[in-house]
Amino acid sequence: MKKILILGGGFAGVEAAIYLRKNNHQVTLVSQRDYFYIYPTSIWIPTGEKSREDVSIPLASLAQAHGFEFVQKEIQEIKAKEKIAICTDGTKLDGYDALIIAIGHSKTKIEGMQEHTLSICGEPEEAEMMRVKIEKLVQEGGGRIAFGFGGNPKDKSSVRGGPVFEVMFNVHNYLKKIGLRDKFELTFFAPMQKPGEKMGEKALVMMDKMLGMTKINKKVGSKITSFESDGILFEDGTKLNSDLTIFTAAGMGHDVFASSDLPLSDAGYIITNEFNKVEGIEDVWAIGDSALLLGSPEWKAKQGHVAEVMARNVAHNITNPNDKKSYIDHLNILCVMDIGNGAAFVYRSTKRAMMVPMPIIGHWIKLGWGWYCRNSKLGKIPRIPGM
Ligand SMILES: Cc1cc2nc3c(=O)[nH]c(=O)nc-3n(C[C@H](O)[C@H](O)[C@H](O)COP(=O)(O)OP(=O)(O)OC[C@H]3O[C@@H](n4cnc5c(N)ncnc54)[C@H](O)[C@@H]3O)c2cc1C
Repeated sequence: MKKILILGGGFAGVEAAIYLRKNNHQVTLVSQRDYFYIYPTSIWIPTGEKSREDVSIPLASLAQAHGFEFVQKEIQEIKAKEKIAICTDGTKLDGYDALIIAIGHSKTKIEGMQEHTLSICGEPEEAEMMRVKIEKLVQEGGGRIAFGFGGNPKDKSSVRGGPVFEVMFNVHNYLKKIGLRDKFELTFFAPMQKPGEKMGEKALVMMDKMLGMTKINKKVGSKITSFESDGILFEDGTKLNSDLTIFTAAGMGHDVFASSDLPLSDAGYIITNEFNKVEGIEDVWAIGDSALLLGSPEWKAKQGHVAEVMARNVAHNITNPNDKKSYIDHLNILCVMDIGNGAAFVYRSTKRAMMVPMPIIGHWIKLGWGWYCRNSKLGKIPRIPGM
């Protein structure tokens, strides 16, 4: 039995805690939030179908169900070589046999982004603020809403576009349902020429068709220079006017890593080997969005199911040091992209790329996954292998 410290209570940290406990290790999990936030189902908060509570699981309940210790604290600095984490309140967490880093990532910064945009991939409060702002525009009888995502040339795997498309199509359907769609101008924007190309060429054609069918404008291919209270400025000199800007910047290494002694990639992610052990440091592991994604596919993406594979592998690798598991063969894009009145099943691997429309049923499948995620993590229903 080893004494293990996990930093982060998201997909990666929670899965690692669950599987380390199955192997009888003593586990402490530290997170600044006291709940596990199920990001994939948070896309329904802006349109009022779900609340933050609906898509959160208290970490205390998970700790009780699996027998690990939960400590609510914010990490400020990691001294990886000494396996020490220092919290913002000055607490020093040390004395562990192994350290697992799973605090997600930070966002690349663009002028005015903090003040004038809201992200579905940011703090959970932002999704709730979107709901309030959309309702205000509804009360006012209409408005302009811009939806976009950014890129990071230093690490393309950190671009997160899928959830932005989901929120955009959900808002479209919500406005249609309440009879106000024609009072709103919706625009999709992104700096790259082919946003969403990770999903494959067929998916790009389908996305274009969907934008046309839903009368959502498109502004792509020009760098974003700044955000203002009433719109977005682009390098080509144009301005997109907007009353509400919903924007997800690409990720970069967590701000905490910059002041730590960890080996980092150009984009600030922790460099590990394929078994998720941090390069050059014994008994320190990095998983989920915190880790630099290895592997050759140029479409590879940081996703929740990859974070969970890494977590289960690390639990195995710590327990079985002579029989280590790699995550490389599990790299694929897999998601049910909700569009409010249905969904699209998106899959990409080295062998195939597909996007299959799933009208109506797709929406229910994603809702069903949210239910499964909550109840299986709490140990109330059995886990489906690999999920
Ligand atoms: C809206 C949305 C929809 C998505 N949909 C899908 C999908 O359909 N399929 C899919 O596979 N993936 C999806 N993803 C991606 C997936 O959610 C992420 O890859 C996954 O959350 C990564 O897990 P993680 O544990 O590494 O990071 P996170 O889930 O971000 O967890 C990080 C944890 O660390 C904690 N933390 C952060 N900073 C500190 C600190 N300084 N001190 C202490 N604790 C800290 C946080 O509170 C949190 O508990 C989606 C992402 C978003 C945002």
